[in-house]
This record gives sequence, C-alpha cells and structure tokens, in this order.
Amino acid sequence: MEQALRRLSRIKMFVLDMDGTIYLGEHLFPFMPRFLETVEKTGREFCFFTNNSSKNREAYLDKLSRMGIHIPAEKMLIASAVIIEWLKENRPGESCFVVGTPLLCADFEAAGIPQNDQDPDFVVLGFDTTLTYEKLTKACHFIRRGRPYYGVNPDLNCPVEEGFIPDCGSMAALIRTSTGVPCEFFGKPSPHTLEYMLRETGCKPEELAVVGDRLYTDIAVAAGSEVTSILVLSGETTKEMLKESDVKPDLVLRDLDELSGLLEKSEPHSRDSL
Ligand SMILES: [Mg+2]
Repeated sequence: MEQALRRLSRIKMFVLDMDGTIYLGEHLFPFMPRFLETVEKTGREFCFFTNNSSKNREAYLDKLSRMGIHIPAEKMLIASAVIIEWLKENRPGESCFVVGTPLLCADFEAAGIPQNDQDPDFVVLGFDTTLTYEKLTKACHFIRRGRPYYGVNPDLNCPVEEGFIPDCGSMAALIRTSTGVPCEFFGKPSPHTLEYMLRETGCKPEELAVVGDRLYTDIAVAAGSEVTSILVLSGETTKEMLKESDVKPDLVLRDLDELSGLLEKSEPHSRDSL
C-alpha cells in the first residue's frame, strides 16, 4: 500500500481507458463524477484514450457529454489519430486503401491522406463494422502485391451489451491467414501510442499513469517504460486472467473508486515540485 501511494504521488496525468474502466456500454460507473473531481482536487489531470477505431473523436465527445462528462477535444485521445499522425510524417503524399467505417475514412480525408481503391501505396485496417467481402478481397490483393499494411488497433474483440464482437485484431488475423503477411499495429500497446500520449500530454514518463481493464493493450502499453500502469478489475480482466498473464500491471485495483480513495490518502500533487 505504501509503495502504491509513493508511486501515485508523482503522477500528474491519468490516461483513462473507456469501456470497462469508466463505463460499461451506455452506463457510466456511478463513482466516476467523484473520481474525476478527486483527480482535479488533488492537483492532477486526466484524459481519455480509446483504441476503438470504428468511431471518431467527436462521437466519443458526444457520448461522454451525454453521460455528463464535458471535456475539451484535446482530452479525448484515439488510436486513429496516432496512425494518422504517423502516416503524415512517415508516408507523406502517399495514397491508402482504408478498410474502415465511414467515420474512419472521413478522418483520413480530413487529414489530407488520399484514398485509393485501385492502386494504393499502402493498406490501413480499422475496426470496420461495415466490413464487406469485397473490401477484404481488395485488401488481400494489394497486400499480396507487396503493399505495406497497418492496423489501427490490435484488439481481438470489442465489448458490447450482449457480450463481444470481433474487432480489428481478429480481422487482421483473417488477412494474415490469407496472405501470410502480419500487419504493424498502432493504438495501445504500440510504442507509437506511448510516444503519442507523452507528446499530447507534455508529461515525462514517470508523471503519467495509464489506467484500463485490458492487459494486452491498456497495461502492456507501459511495459518497459517509467509510465505507471493501473489495472482495474471492473471490465474484462479477472483475477485468474491476471495470474496467468505475462503482462504485469504496477497496480491492481477493483475500480476507479478505489483509486479515488488512494488519491485522497496520497500526498496532494504539487506542480511546483516538478
Ligand atoms: Mg476497456
């Protein structure tokens, strides 16, 4: 406990996962207003990061606002922004075939990345809830011709009210089986995302904590860095899954309500000490 409090005392920014961490589906966890208040009251900040590439930043800002959480756009981080920024810097002017929802395609368009379904320079795979056999066929065809391909997020499943639906990582597994080519993923846990979080928040690694309910994305993103990882057991991970996993969080908590309690006990964060 004391070690946890010491670790928390240096945290300036919490990067919060969404589903399973702050809400389940459409239901905000009842302790969230108190948690966000406690973060601010103790001189810290928070922002959100989602790997879900079927929607965009505006859709998430709307959803949060319907739940009574009103935040400026820069506090809503999303995996699709990580890959878009990387592409603009590393593959400028090149065209892509996007296997994604209309919202993801619109984000690529707004970023000025040309889309091409005849002879693209590379292929991008998102969590495409509008996936068709035609899109899969085209993507596999371009990849077989040697075009590089990138996945927005590696999640295998996305939680929904009725259980789970296949996410980007599962679609990438299908393409890999067909073509024999693995894709490079962005989003959590890629190093691209860790760099993006640090850049967007302006924090040093030791000042940042990532919080989430999924071991191989939310927690693994901090591996090998000074960033603190906090697993909450309010979503998909059970104690048994944690025991069997190679990914080990720095802190394991029941939920964000437990973190509120710890923050109230730990030394208030002082900006002057940084
Ligand atoms: Mg989650």
